Amino acid sequence: MIVPLLDLKAQYNSIKSEVDTAVAEVFESQHFINGPQVKQCEKAIAEYCNTSDAIGVSSGTDALLIALMVEEIGAGDEVITTDFSFFATAGCIARTGAKPVFVDIDPSSYNIDPDQIRSKITSKTKAIIPVHLYGQVADMDPIMAIAEEYNLVVIEDGAQAIGAEYRGKRAGSIGHYGCFSFFPSKNLGTSGDGGMVVTNDPQKGEMLRIFRNHGSKPKYYHKYIGGNFRLDTLHAAVVLAKFPHLDSWSDARKQNADRYRRLLENKGVVGNGVMSLPVEVADRHIYNQFVIRVERRNALQGFLKQKGIGTEVYYPVPFHFQKCFAYLGETGDFPESEAAANETLALPIFPELTDEQAIYVVDSIAEFYSL
Ligand SMILES: *Cc1c(COP(=O)(O)O)cnc(C)c1O
Repeated sequence: MIVPLLDLKAQYNSIKSEVDTAVAEVFESQHFINGPQVKQCEKAIAEYCNTSDAIGVSSGTDALLIALMVEEIGAGDEVITTDFSFFATAGCIARTGAKPVFVDIDPSSYNIDPDQIRSKITSKTKAIIPVHLYGQVADMDPIMAIAEEYNLVVIEDGAQAIGAEYRGKRAGSIGHYGCFSFFPSKNLGTSGDGGMVVTNDPQKGEMLRIFRNHGSKPKYYHKYIGGNFRLDTLHAAVVLAKFPHLDSWSDARKQNADRYRRLLENKGVVGNGVMSLPVEVADRHIYNQFVIRVERRNALQGFLKQKGIGTEVYYPVPFHFQKCFAYLGETGDFPESEAAANETLALPIFPELTDEQAIYVVDSIAEFYSL
């Protein structure tokens, strides 16, 4: 049996006419830049996230970058973030000229450990970027309390967590900015690159709109140096076509997670030390990834590959080990982030995963551990 890590064709087949119609409309209009779908998409996401403003941008990476640019963060500044995330989180900080400062993770959630943030704050610290890794919101209450105490900006990296919830609040609506990605593999993906920044501060919203269009207002008058960070009409249209399905897809991912738990427990794979399962600590986990922690991870991944099962390691190299960050001279200890990089494995969790596929994945894992 073949079980891909993600099956986007299955998703497309289920909504083909809606997506095709949306794309055809954009072609009919030839309104490729700032078409009406961009505003409609922004309105839908702002409502969904419970924020006053949403600004469509060119990618999740650019969502992070533009938020930092609007805050005028750059050389001489420090920005605190997790040691364990997709590269863009830290890359954006460095690209502004600011210094990324890494914090180890909480081993149960894989998110930044709020208790270790305070010791990393200096007079140069300007912002914190917590990441809602795998689709679960970081522990935001203590993070916001620290930010308030030290007057820091909080930029949520919610690229993997659109629709996730924490103490009744939607991901992206808790900090000063929330950043989302429409990369095809995210829960709400488009047909290429795209992203969104949400905020509850209309003034910040206005600045984001100015910065995404080369910093101009009015046209050709530049008070700021922004960039071309626009969301294409085509991508906004595809996001809009998929948006009505987002919650049912995220719920299906959660059901797949629950099924894995049941099957793995029944097989005796969990509870005998070889494996631990994702821990739900926030209100709503949207399971962009279902990540297990296992013994002999690389051998298991190779075995599953032979069986036709797609898995992935998110992420094999913590930030403090990345070559490009050697100049930081980081000397801190990050035992939990290093352990996560060595022990975790993402299993197929896409909404269309069938019973048979899930059973096959679990049976194969049990076979590997000879259970
Ligand atoms: C996907 C992702 C990004 C970047 O989004 P792109 O749209 O690919 O630029 C940033 N941070 C995290 C945690 C991500 O998973």
